[in-house]
Parts: sequence; structure tokens; C-alpha cells
Amino acid sequence: LLEIHTASEGLNIELKQKQEKMRESDSVKAMLAFREKLPAFKVKSEFLKAVAANQVLVVSGETGCGKTTQLPQFILEEEISSLRGANCSIICTQPRRISAISVAARISSERGEKLGETVGYQIRLESKRSAQTRLLFCTTGVLLRQLVQDPELTGITHLLVDEIHERGMNEDFLLIILRDILPRRPDLRLILMSATINADLFSKYFGSAPTIHIPGLTFPVQEFYLEDVLEKTRYVVKPESDSFPGNSRRGQRQQESKKDPLTELFEDADIDAHYKGYSTNTRRSLEAWSGSQLDLGLVEATIEHICRHEGSGAILVFLTGWDDISKLLDKLKANNILGDPNKFLVIPLHGSMPTINQREIFDRPPPNVRKIVLATNIAESSITIDDVVYVIDCGKAKETSYDALNKLACLLPSWISKASAHQRRGRAGRVQPGVCYRLYPKMIHDAMLQYQLPEMLRTPLQELCLHIKSLQLGLIGTFLAKALQPPDALSVENAIELLKTIGALDDREELTPLGRHLCTLPLDPNIGKMLLMGSIFQCLNPALTIAAALAHRNPFVLPINRKEEADDAKRSFAGDSCSDHIALVKAFEGWKDAKRNRKEKAFCWENFLSPVTMQMMEDMRNQFLDLLSGIGFVDKSRGANAYNQYSDDLEMVCAILCAGLYPNVVQCKRRGKRTALYTKEVGKVDIHPASVNAGVHLFPLPYMVYSEKVKTSSIYVRDSTNISDYALLMFGGNLIPSKNGDGIEMLGGYLHFSASKTVLDLIRKLRGELDKLLTR
Ligand code: ADP
Ligand code: MG
Repeated sequence: LLEIHTASEGLNIELKQKQEKMRESDSVKAMLAFREKLPAFKVKSEFLKAVAANQVLVVSGETGCGKTTQLPQFILEEEISSLRGANCSIICTQPRRISAISVAARISSERGEKLGETVGYQIRLESKRSAQTRLLFCTTGVLLRQLVQDPELTGITHLLVDEIHERGMNEDFLLIILRDILPRRPDLRLILMSATINADLFSKYFGSAPTIHIPGLTFPVQEFYLEDVLEKTRYVVKPESDSFPGNSRRGQRQQESKKDPLTELFEDADIDAHYKGYSTNTRRSLEAWSGSQLDLGLVEATIEHICRHEGSGAILVFLTGWDDISKLLDKLKANNILGDPNKFLVIPLHGSMPTINQREIFDRPPPNVRKIVLATNIAESSITIDDVVYVIDCGKAKETSYDALNKLACLLPSWISKASAHQRRGRAGRVQPGVCYRLYPKMIHDAMLQYQLPEMLRTPLQELCLHIKSLQLGLIGTFLAKALQPPDALSVENAIELLKTIGALDDREELTPLGRHLCTLPLDPNIGKMLLMGSIFQCLNPALTIAAALAHRNPFVLPINRKEEADDAKRSFAGDSCSDHIALVKAFEGWKDAKRNRKEKAFCWENFLSPVTMQMMEDMRNQFLDLLSGIGFVDKSRGANAYNQYSDDLEMVCAILCAGLYPNVVQCKRRGKRTALYTKEVGKVDIHPASVNAGVHLFPLPYMVYSEKVKTSSIYVRDSTNISDYALLMFGGNLIPSKNGDGIEMLGGYLHFSASKTVLDLIRKLRGELDKLLTR
């Protein structure tokens, strides 16, 4: 896939001539003038010499100094000028899809070419490249998948791994593999690119590889903390509750956090002591924000303050995610605080946006127009906007965390590290002295972690473990022990156990037929299994919809003041199915119908659905369909109906849900007129208040499957579906005969089913048939 075809002498000369000709063009000359001013340009010859002389090189430099756009380009130009252009193949990995595209586009224009000629990109299910492509940007995930077919990366001459300081799971994983490959590929050049933090760590990992540091040029940035911001903006925080941080009553609010967000920072929990000297306003503001509710009013007031009282220059606002960004967009529009809307250019910037409008983001707006970028931490180091003078930092970022003891995984806004806060602040000083407004008090900053924990240490590892198996890298535990910072043993064990439980690995940790299929799907193994089962059992449509929501996000929105109406809308989709997942399927079907009549906007509005998420789900469904057809589970030429014979059969759909969500099982035990719910890991749980099953006292069927558990004041299961014991017997985990011989057990004895020998034999036979379907 990634291999770039090598060709003849003639082509080498042709490439060089073309490159020289392009250099004459005015646009390329103008670009060159810009490039020459970048700090990276000053180290060009030192860099090229080091690449020639060393197998591994670590380059660090402040964000925006030109690492990503210049260093791969220097290699490309050098190879072409030395008449090796046709034989080189330079790959540069990016953690995010959107930066792979934007950087490839930028370099193409710096070279005066169309995207996809010499420079191209490849991301999951999408690419722009050609036989001429010599420099290819891809996501780290794409390169990892490539390793299945090409474990030695043959044909690649230069590999640049970007943004390694972020310590993403894929990048850390790739580094383990690369360290093993290097001795077998002495001709391969590896260049690691990092922001200034921690470069030594990587150099040590690769046997003291040489490092080059690109000195940055940045202007001083003045910083304000919450107290000053509140005073400057004269913003008064609404008292939302009478409890102060640290009071236990706060837990009663439905914040979705694994821990009390302030005690997360202050182990002693004596928060009042830290508050000495702060105003009530500050306490209230922080209290709200600690409960995961960012005060968008304050963000708005800060923007307004800058626009009214400060000089010109773009404003960059760091928010936690798409929710905040879209809410703030709406708020800015609705309140019209800025007066004439033509004087402002408000641009959202978010990692899951399909593409970005390069010119809008990077170019300077016309005079008298102020650019305001609402971004997630993607603008922290992957994308640099030069004309930013003001940064507003909310202090949090959404990140996954994993609690190995309770097997809880969450994606929540949590406080960023000091390193990130520093990075965000630095974005304001690119072209002139800047200002950074931090919407949290200094005591929070002082309590922040120095660095963020590497992703490998804070996420569930099952997808990674499958990947290790499919690349035949040996025993999972042994392999992961070689990581830069190995994950703890319990997390590794949990992941292996889960893969065994869902039938992807056998007792000896080898891939089963199901496991082999799951490896080829770049998805969480549970979601992959749901898709496979959905196609085998002819309920493809619902499986695609549910998988899309699980892989992306739930489309139901919860407006604070119209919560009851929103709940009713969701309940009416669910009917009497006792299933949030069925509600989702029906909502999507309704949206599709509405879309046919071009009424999808109104449909979303009436039913409290996010239009952006619905559209994203449709795109993802199509991607999943492509993946399934890629591995032969769906033959698109047969049409959709061929896989949907049972799509309206609720029992069947619930069984497929069980196949996908197992071992997320709840037992419903009747206690008088109510039902008590239990899970194996944590015991008693509650239904999440946003679920259609919240408030149901008695369920028709004895079990539930659920998408995830979250821990707040108590432990909730989100998005649940009531299922029968037959669904579990057919699609749950391995069946173990119970000791006294009267039935079967599942989940290590946690679930017990009594059944006659005849019934058990029948179930075993059916399961055998199912296994055969997977072994094709
Ligand atoms: P680094 O990787 O060191 O953070 P980059 O190579 O991404 O730096 O960016 C170098 C410079 O090029 C920055 O000043 C940035 O603003 C500019 N730049 C990058 N991409 C674009 C683009 N698509 N359009 C305009 N300018 C860009
Ligand atoms: Mg970069």
C-alpha cells in the first residue's frame, strides 16, 4: 500500500528538471521567502548531513519552527537534486488525519505542485497520491496496518515519525517495532520529530541517537489567571449551587468523572486552604468548571473584552471538544456580542472535521476583521496559526483514562499538564508579543502534572494487543515490556482476558478465526465483532448504526432546560424495546427518511439529535461497509437487502447487540416491585438517568448489555438493552459446565444457567455452526 514504485535513471533526471523549473515560478519563490525565515531553515545542512550519517536522528524544536513542513521536504529536495529522486520513498506519520491532509497540501503548494503529485497523503479509507508520489504523509495507524503485509518496511528509504512528544499509543507502539526492525534494515533512515519537551528520552531509547535542536524564535507572552480575567471582564459567575468544592454534596450533581476533579489535583482534599485569598466569584467559577461544566459565558466575556479593549490580532480559544465548540459558535451568533458580524471570522477547528479550509485558517483576514479560532488541543502542536496574538485557555482537554481495577474507561475533560499549558500559552507569541488568558486560578496551574501520562498507560489495550498478535510479535506481555514506558501488568492482563472472553484469542493467546477477522478491522474488537455478526445474521443496518454511534458518539443531545422533552423523544424511538440502542437505530432510520425529503434539520431539532453527529454516523456506516466488503463479509453488488432480512426483528437485533457488547452484562434481580442491577466487576450499578431504561422498575427479560460504565456519585451503565438468556447462551462467552452438573456457567461462574442436557447439546451444536461460519 505504502510502497512507492521505484523507476529508471530517466525519471531521476526528469524529476530534477521539474523541480528546478518550478523554482523559477513566482509563487514558489514567494513561498521560499517564507520558508527561509522559518527556524528550521537554519539547520538545513546540519540536518541533511546528520540524516546521511546516522540511522536514527531525533529533532526537537518549538511548535511552528518548521519541523513537519520543512524537514521531510528537505530530504525530498535533496534526494531529487542528487538524482536519487525516483528511488526514494519518504514516509512521514501524523497522529491525526486532519494534519496529514493539511501538511501534504501545504508542502505541495510550497513546491508549486498539485496535491497527490510528488507529495501525497494516505489516511484510513482515503488517499490522494499517485505513481509519482515520493513523499507520503499518513496517519500512524495506516503505517501500523501496512506492517502486517510488509513487516520490514521494504521500499521505504526514510521514515519520519512526527509528534512523538505527545506519547500517543500508536506512536509508542511503532517505536517498539522500529527499534527491532532497524538492525535488519541498515539502509533505512529514521527521523523522530518532537516538540522541545523530553527529546532525550527518545534519544536514549534508540541507543543514544544524535539529536538536533532547532532554536525557536518566540515573543514574550503575558499571562493572566482566572482572578485577573474575572476582574478585567467584570464577569459575574452565577451561583449554580450553594456548595463549595470539597463538599460532598457536589457529588450529587451528575458530573461524569472518574474522581472528584479537584481532589484529582489536590490529594489532601483540603481545597478551602488552597482558596485563601481568592474571591467568591473565582471560587464559583472554578467550582462550576471542576464539575466539568465549562462556563461558556466567561469565555464569551473574555473574547468580548479582547475585541473591545485590546489591539488587533487573532484569538485562539482552547476548548475541550466539539460540544463546547458548537455551543460557543451558537452563543456567539445568538448573542451578537461582537456587534457587526462582518467584522469577525469565527472558525471551528476540531480533529474529527473531515477537512479544514486551509486559507480561512492560515491566511490573515482582511484588515478590520478579527479571526477567532475555536479549537481543541489539535491547535496545541499539530496546527500552527501564525497571526494568533491572544490565547484563551480553558485548562482542560478531553482524554481517555482507564481504571484497570474497575475496568472503567472514560473519555472526559480533565486538567491538562503544565507542559500543555505552556504549549498553549506559546501559541500567542508567534509574530509579536501576546497575551494568554487562563480560565483557571494559579493554584490549579501549580497543581497540574508536569507531563501528561503516555496514552499507553491510560487506555484499554485490547485493540493494541490484537495488533501485536496480527503482526506476530510474540507474547503480548513480553512485547509490551519493551515499550518506552511499559503499561502496568493488570491493564495488559485485562486486555488479554477480554480478547479471550470475546473469543478473539484462544487459551494459548493465539488468534482464533474470529480474532483474525477482527485484526483486519481498524476498530475496537467489540465493535468489529458486532459488525461481523450483523452481517452474518442479516441485521446489517442496525449493526452499522450502533457500531457507528459506539465508535463515534451518541447523537442524542441533552439540552439543560428541555431535558424532559428530550427524554420523551428518545423514549418514543425506543417504543417498548427497553433499549437505548434500538432508540438509536430508529432515530437513524427516521433521519434517513427525513433526509430523503430534505427535512433532516427539522427532524434533528424536533427529536433532540445532533445533525453533525448524524451526518458523521452516516459517513462512518459507509466506511464500515467498505471495511466489511474489503474482508469479504459483504458483497456490495448483492444490494443492501441481502443483509437485512432480520433487521426489523428486535429479538435478533438484541442478540447481535449481545454478541458485540459482551462481557458488558448486567444481571437484573427482582427485589419486590423493583429490579436491582449487578455487574461482575463492581457489584451494584444504576441505569444512567439519560437512558430510556431509567425509572423502569421491572424489566421483561433477565439481563442487560450496556455500552459503558461511568462512575460519578454512583456507578452508572450508559446505553443499555434488555436481553434474554437465549441471547447470552448463543452469543455470550465460553460455556463452562457448572460443577454440580445442572447447567452452564459464564463469566467465570458469575452467570449461571440451568438447562437440560438436551438443550445444552443443542446450544453447543449451534455454536459449532457459528464457528464454522467464521472459518471461511
Ligand atoms: P512544526 O511542525 O515545527 O510545528 P510546521 O512545519 O507545521 O511547524 O509549520 C511551519 C510554519 O508553516 C508555521 O509558521 C505555520 O504557520 C506555517 N504553515 C503550516 N501549514 C500551513 C498552511 N497550510 N498554510 C499556511 N501556513 C502554514
Ligand atoms: Mg509539526
